[in-house]
Amino acid sequence: MIVADKKPIEEIIEYLKGKQNILILGCNECVTVCEAGGKKEVGVLASALRMYFQNQGEDVKIDEVTLERQCDHEYLEEIRDRVDQYDAVVSLACGVGVQFMAEKYHSTHIYPGVNTCFLGATEERGLWTERCQACGQCILATTGGICPVSRCAKRLLNGPCGGSTTGKCEVKKGDEEIDCGWQLIVDRLQALDRLDEYETLCPVKDWSTDRAGGPRKVIREDLKQ
Ligand code: SF4
Ligand code: SF4
Repeated sequence: MIVADKKPIEEIIEYLKGKQNILILGCNECVTVCEAGGKKEVGVLASALRMYFQNQGEDVKIDEVTLERQCDHEYLEEIRDRVDQYDAVVSLACGVGVQFMAEKYHSTHIYPGVNTCFLGATEERGLWTERCQACGQCILATTGGICPVSRCAKRLLNGPCGGSTTGKCEVKKGDEEIDCGWQLIVDRLQALDRLDEYETLCPVKDWSTDRAGGPRKVIREDLKQ
């Protein structure tokens, strides 16, 4: 899923200076799971903003709506008849949802309410970790199901580098310490009795499917009408 984190409220308040009709817009998908932008977080942010503006002696109206998804025309249509009444929308969706909102409703000021971080997994409540950088050409079949693009700090396709010590990566120390992605790959291949695959050099990867080629698209002719 897409993992996001809440923005500091001071930053959001800064966007909203001078605004009087504000919609806080949540999303029921990834940002709900990572507890950054779902219905609950919409309520918490709206309450905090109401309190702030009240303390400032400002009469600001703040509404709350949470859509099924903000990265889908169908659900964004649900607010078409009311979006014009707001002079600001704070979207708690990921960066995709915020941009889709901004593209669809040109005349409304759309502001992000979360920081979109990465594609990751929930390890435990309150802990999400990166697993994929959406490179567009998955090589997990050859790396024991562990991604060197996202788990190795240097995105090495043939590792580890000389900075791997006792299974840890050189880029972070102390409390921030992280596993060496390539040590994880070696350990996994060994456990699967497939270490011979580690001995085979990974060929040069076609990065044109990654960010190098600019914004990407997936076209499925079988699904197009
Ligand atoms: S190889 Fe690419 S697509 Fe596969 S998990 Fe890693 S970044 Fe994601
Ligand atoms: S120590 Fe391991 S994870 Fe860190 S950069 Fe080197 S190979 Fe990658």
